[in-house]
Amino acid sequence: MTRRQKTKINEINYQRVKQPSVALRTRNPEDAFLQLQRTIGNQAVGRFLQAKLNVNQPDDKYEKEADWAAEQVMRMPETASSNPSNGLLQPHRALALSPLGPTILARKKPDDIKAVHKALFVTSPIGESCKKWRDKATKASPKTTGEEMVDEFRKNLEEDIKKRPLSVVGEVTAKTSESEIDTIASEVNQKILKKFGGVIKTPLTDTEVQDRVKILAAEKTKDPEFIKQWLANKLNTWTTIGEYCIDEDDKRFQKVLNDILADESMAKSVRTLASRQSAFFEGEAASRTVHIHKGMEAAKAESTLIHELVHFYAHPDYRQWNAKMIVPRYINEGFAEFLAREVEGGSARSSYEDRYEFIRDKVAKHVSVDDIASAYFAGEVWKVENISKVAKELFGVREKEKKKAK
Ligand SMILES: [Zn+2]
Repeated sequence: MTRRQKTKINEINYQRVKQPSVALRTRNPEDAFLQLQRTIGNQAVGRFLQAKLNVNQPDDKYEKEADWAAEQVMRMPETASSNPSNGLLQPHRALALSPLGPTILARKKPDDIKAVHKALFVTSPIGESCKKWRDKATKASPKTTGEEMVDEFRKNLEEDIKKRPLSVVGEVTAKTSESEIDTIASEVNQKILKKFGGVIKTPLTDTEVQDRVKILAAEKTKDPEFIKQWLANKLNTWTTIGEYCIDEDDKRFQKVLNDILADESMAKSVRTLASRQSAFFEGEAASRTVHIHKGMEAAKAESTLIHELVHFYAHPDYRQWNAKMIVPRYINEGFAEFLAREVEGGSARSSYEDRYEFIRDKVAKHVSVDDIASAYFAGEVWKVENISKVAKELFGVREKEKKKAK
């Protein structure tokens, strides 16, 4: 099995795990696929390494520049109290009392809508059954599953450092300042509003956006909780733990994390790598904040922010619809990336390629970009899919509201 397939399966298995709370849900890694993007960093670093193998030049100006470029956007759990307006898992105010399904939904060709429904709600892009966790060593398997996970992690950590030795030494050079990130954030906001302002019901002001986009503070990355979350994300990409379908809060998962952190030879590298996380975000939609590493170049920060700001504008009804899908997180990333690429400067980031292609081939082939935008930003999900129960109910709620308003 290739690494790529494994990672895919990890993500899919996540969707199978029961998601009992917002806190648990948001703790799962969103972007496991980004791991696949771990190239050796920029070409200069590659060339430098090559040169270093041949000639030792202690004064080389690149000597101290760290290869921090972990191409990854990481999500962190929000604190439970900070997010009373998280609409995702709260029942829609009117959904509970919506016995009547809407009658007139179809505007599209039925076959197109059926195909979209099937892709989003019925067939999983990939599927695999959950493996059984082994708590006790046996003759046939002298290690517990937990111990095996620690070993897998150690192996991948060592390989990664061998490939990118600068990832754990030297200093990270600042490439983007707090004021630059503010400028980029407001530019990105304007670009999104220029493209989708027609369907975005409550646009954020540039100041509001700036308040929610920050340079990643060094202290933040030293927080033990941050490090643990970083490690949890990594564990999902560097080991096959996802194939066991256990939640990150599960004591078996937590024990693996603690065992790794208790091993100082691994923990030291983990701390350094975590401090070089390229970007991470906390919260969902309206309560989302994004932290960008100062080592990220402005152009890259821009395309990252376009994607992230598209997440800011996800309508609560869209999110409710998304939550019922077969692989919500995967598909949500697809929608966000698909729409981000419609925005000027929303250049393709290959780390999202498969999710983007899923939306392009399974959804956009059947419905227009405008309809996808209306579903995502305005919550008019029935323009994309109107067969699922949740889509019918959301449509019914809107129709009622419309009648009331008359
Ligand atoms: Zn995303």
